[in-house]
Amino acid sequence: MNPLDTHPDFDESFRDNFAAVDNTTGKRNWFFPQKPTGKWHNRRVWFTIFQLSVMIGLPFIKVNGQPLFLFNILERKFIIFGLFIGPQDYWLFGLMMISFFVFIVLFTTVFGRVWCGWACPQTVFMEMVFRKIEYVIEGDWKAQRALEKAPWNNEKIVKRTLKVVVFMTVSFLIANLLLSYFVGVDRLWRIVSEPITEHLTLFLGICAFTLIFFFNFAWLRDQACTVVCPYGRLQGVLLDKNSVVIAYDYKRGEPREKLHKGKERTAGDCINCFQCVNVCPTGIDIRNGTQMECVNCTACIDACDNIMEKVNLPKGLIRFDSENNIASGKSKLITTRTIAYAVVLTALWVALGYAILTRDDTETTMLRVPGSRYIENPDGSISNLYTFKLFNKTNHAINPEMRILFPKGSLKFAGIPSLHLDGAGMVEGSVFITIPKTEIANRRTEVKLAIYAGSEKLEEFKTTFIAPEE
Ligand code: SF4
Ligand code: SF4
Repeated sequence: MNPLDTHPDFDESFRDNFAAVDNTTGKRNWFFPQKPTGKWHNRRVWFTIFQLSVMIGLPFIKVNGQPLFLFNILERKFIIFGLFIGPQDYWLFGLMMISFFVFIVLFTTVFGRVWCGWACPQTVFMEMVFRKIEYVIEGDWKAQRALEKAPWNNEKIVKRTLKVVVFMTVSFLIANLLLSYFVGVDRLWRIVSEPITEHLTLFLGICAFTLIFFFNFAWLRDQACTVVCPYGRLQGVLLDKNSVVIAYDYKRGEPREKLHKGKERTAGDCINCFQCVNVCPTGIDIRNGTQMECVNCTACIDACDNIMEKVNLPKGLIRFDSENNIASGKSKLITTRTIAYAVVLTALWVALGYAILTRDDTETTMLRVPGSRYIENPDGSISNLYTFKLFNKTNHAINPEMRILFPKGSLKFAGIPSLHLDGAGMVEGSVFITIPKTEIANRRTEVKLAIYAGSEKLEEFKTTFIAPEE
């Protein structure tokens, strides 16, 4: 049972309506949230400064000459924390994504949608960058509403044009930032400094993303979170009553009643001032209970705290808390569910750590040519013919050497004098393995080979050698 059911005024009919749509006309409700101010907002401002600094700075950080992070989808090259992931290691990329997903599930189960309000680029750019620009150009919510209703006079034309120009500029900068994660800052600099015709495709990509970002932040806005984002829609299954969410303390707040000066207050602490609704960027009333549209932006906490301070009531009527704690004063952060997620996450991280630590720089497959037989040489040795594929799993060029480790023998390549591989490159070819008869005990012998770069062994692999029956 939802704990809100326990208060007599509770009515779940609000769930039949979507705040962003007008029930009568079916048209979109455009929100003009009041400018948020307060302790939580200040914390978010500082966190945003930190986060944007990290986001802008990361593409410039290099490890061994390559970026710390790169997501080059077009060339299928990924670098995560300096670890290059080429086509041979997509499974590793998949494992990382699964670990990340389980981490998000665990984090959400315990701490709710903290990610949405504090770290999601959509909310950060929308509420802390574009919305602030809007407040500067058009004023606070009432001025924005008035401007929306006003005819297209000089003031409206100037303000709206200025807004479009600034929004477009910021969208262009964000598109460049995004591209720096796709292609790296060096290539981005070449796109910026060299003639456009030499990088036409990527330049068109920047233009396309500029328009997408502009559309998103100028028009789509809250609907990116409430309609498009799959994470938001998963909240119903990820959250439980022990999850910490932004919650209204209905036990303390109900019954609501306007404040009447000079009259002793017998109602709850909510004075029905609607400040928490006025500041909400997704247009909901948090007093109805936890809702899918709430992005945990904390604006309603600040708005209500400011009111509580003015009317001399304790702060925290809206706060970070769990439904169970509000209903009964009891809440558990560690539950069977969170323990199960933590166990799965730990197992994934151990597997990931092991896979990364034991990962070789090259990957070789060597198979006997189908249908071929062994060759008995005049000097008494035996030869087998193989085809091989050698992949370079690093992002830099290497000139590796292939050697036989066991038993004693020699390699003779057919047609390729040396092995050279570009970053993430591959060579293939044919090779004879020749082994003296004295080294062969059975018809089938396992041959151990290795790939070296100078004295450094990059990889060990095996293949099967066939010899005549003694
Ligand atoms: S309910 Fe509060 S925290 Fe949730 S989106 Fe609205 S203002 Fe932000
Ligand atoms: S801001 Fe606080 S007091 Fe005002 S309506 Fe919202 S919950 Fe009630």
